[in-house]
Amino acid sequence: MSVTIDDFAEEIISKNIDKDRALQHFQQLSEHEKDILISKLKYKFPDESPGNKPILKRDRLKALDQRDLNDKHRMYIEALADKYEKFVPNSKKNILEHQGYFVDQRRAFHLIKELKNLHFQITYNKAEGAYIYDIDGNKYIDISGDMGVNIFGHKPKFISDSIKQSLDQGIPLAGYSETIFKASKLFCDITGHERVLFTQSGTEAVMFAVRIARAATQRKKIVIFEGAYHGLSDAVVAMRDPEGKSVSVGIGMLQEFADQLIVLKYGEMSELDLIESQANSIAGVLVEPVQSRHPYKQPVEFLKELRKLTIEKGIALIFDEMITGFRVSSRGAQGVFNIKPDMATYGKIPGGGLPTGVIAGSAKYMDLIDGGSWQFGDSSMPSPRRTGMAGTHSQNPLKIAAVLATLSEIKDRCPDSNSCGSSTCFHSELNRKTKYLSQTLNSFLSEKNIPVIIDYFGSLFRFRFLDSYWGVTEALFFILLRMNGVETNIQGNCFITTAHTDDDIEKVIDSVKLSLQTLFDEGFFVETDETQDRNETEVLSFSQSTKVKSAALTGDRGTEKLKLLVEQDLRNFLGEF
Ligand code: PMP
Repeated sequence: MSVTIDDFAEEIISKNIDKDRALQHFQQLSEHEKDILISKLKYKFPDESPGNKPILKRDRLKALDQRDLNDKHRMYIEALADKYEKFVPNSKKNILEHQGYFVDQRRAFHLIKELKNLHFQITYNKAEGAYIYDIDGNKYIDISGDMGVNIFGHKPKFISDSIKQSLDQGIPLAGYSETIFKASKLFCDITGHERVLFTQSGTEAVMFAVRIARAATQRKKIVIFEGAYHGLSDAVVAMRDPEGKSVSVGIGMLQEFADQLIVLKYGEMSELDLIESQANSIAGVLVEPVQSRHPYKQPVEFLKELRKLTIEKGIALIFDEMITGFRVSSRGAQGVFNIKPDMATYGKIPGGGLPTGVIAGSAKYMDLIDGGSWQFGDSSMPSPRRTGMAGTHSQNPLKIAAVLATLSEIKDRCPDSNSCGSSTCFHSELNRKTKYLSQTLNSFLSEKNIPVIIDYFGSLFRFRFLDSYWGVTEALFFILLRMNGVETNIQGNCFITTAHTDDDIEKVIDSVKLSLQTLFDEGFFVETDETQDRNETEVLSFSQSTKVKSAALTGDRGTEKLKLLVEQDLRNFLGEF
């Protein structure tokens, strides 16, 4: 069975699921997925335990939408805009002053008309370790992680030194240096791939990987999944319409390109039948194994089946590990799930802060770029079956120096990527801190009945506003977070780095709590009629015991107990049937 956690929760609540299957599925969930399920079930079970006063009349709130703003909210927003302008005056001034000639799509990204006075990017002036500073003298704990690039904090000395040394040596772009051989060997050693190729960006890596898949199979179609992001090249951008057809996304993006893509629902086993039935036309399946926009979806069984099917049908399986690569383990999601794709694309972390993309994979595929190995002094020649790939800065020595420094540090801190996650490996510490932050906040949010969940995978985490996507409440949350000393990124992915101390983590937790509590107190989470109806009519499917005890149990221990209770309840049902 492959359903999303939301669907699973709904199925349980509505008694729409066979108990045997429910138990089986529950046991297959990761600990993190169990936590999310429990949080969802908690929302549904009102607290009736004696002496435990419910925080709210109704069991579920909704983040306010701009359509629901009243005068009180508008006054709050206006006052906040004044305060914010005083907090970051020069950042605001910069936006107005330079927008005529400076083009950046991010300026308009997620802009909500009602919050226009609060919507502008900050101008930074330095960054060091876990902190970032702006031109108005504010210091923030940075959890934006440079969009996933940053795993060792800002300005790690080993990367700066390596780049400086490369600068001193001059930066010839043509030809090779010893550095590129060392970096390539180390890349293959850590990831377990046979061959590796550097590109100028992540977008380009994905674009060329897709081309290699087509060259290898002589087929046209590429499968991608809803909710994933692979850069904005024409080769991989399309949406799925309600009928399941791929459609182009925006102006300048041609339907002819979208026609070459098949957009499927991620993690749904039934979608594999579709791949099977169209296998003769499918060159490759491109998958972000854990989508950075939906880190709670970790469909390992689906991926395993996908791997089997693609081998059987001769389809190239490409993992896009741009964000998960080197972050969730030294071998990325491939290491965590123990699944080997034919090719994987990377960028971000291995670039050490300089622009890069990487394609790594088996020789069978990678040889399609350079024809594979051959020898001197005999008749061997590279294979003529080659496709095009080039880029002036693909092997730029400065970035290769940063790659080598970063990979060397990873190797030092996690000597055996096959057993990554051991107690001495730096990933365990990073993951522990992220889990602690997420679970602490999830307990708080659940206790307060605030409909926000922190999803996490490795050291990537995200705030998910349930029932709302980028409404005023969410936008205000990120502004308040900044004013409370924590910097995030407008596109929503947050990251913990090795530079974050336990004290930093506590400060982030406090800041998130304070920001959400403020919005709660100011009425930016509203009770919905829909919730009221559900409260009155919804029948709890599990058992009375879960219903009574669930909301009374809070905090990590509570969550653990709830997990047991849910499991026990499912077992009891099994007995009854
Ligand atoms: N794939 C994924 C999964 C990404 O997250 C990104 C960028 N965030 C890309 C591809 C594109 O990489 P780049 O921005 O370096 O071109």
